Amino acid sequence: MDANHLPRYKRLLLVKHDELSAARDETTALVPRAGESEGDLMDCASADTEAELQVRLRQSDGRVLKAIENALARIRAGSFRVCEACQQLISQTRLEAVPWTRLCRECKEREQSAA
Ligand SMILES: [Zn+2]
Repeated sequence: MDANHLPRYKRLLLVKHDELSAARDETTALVPRAGESEGDLMDCASADTEAELQVRLRQSDGRVLKAIENALARIRAGSFRVCEACQQLISQTRLEAVPWTRLCRECKEREQSAA
């Protein structure tokens, strides 16, 4: 592996991680806690939909955050860039686009067509 690229990917990962963490904190503030506002919510259907959308966004951000944390752990462990399925090196082009990926493009495509 060309170790010279690692600090660069690590930086990409950390920047994205900060971005998502900040977004997640904002989103958390927007979502009303369940059970807090019973009773007078009769015409708050749109607010509910909005909250639901935010929760969904937050969940997918949460998955990416987790993937980023895993990628950072793999950088520390020295297994970054190695596809988890076929053990081949993931292409730099792919890592530039999705630095937290665990699969090379071929395996990702196989996974998606299997799903
Ligand atoms: Zn692979």
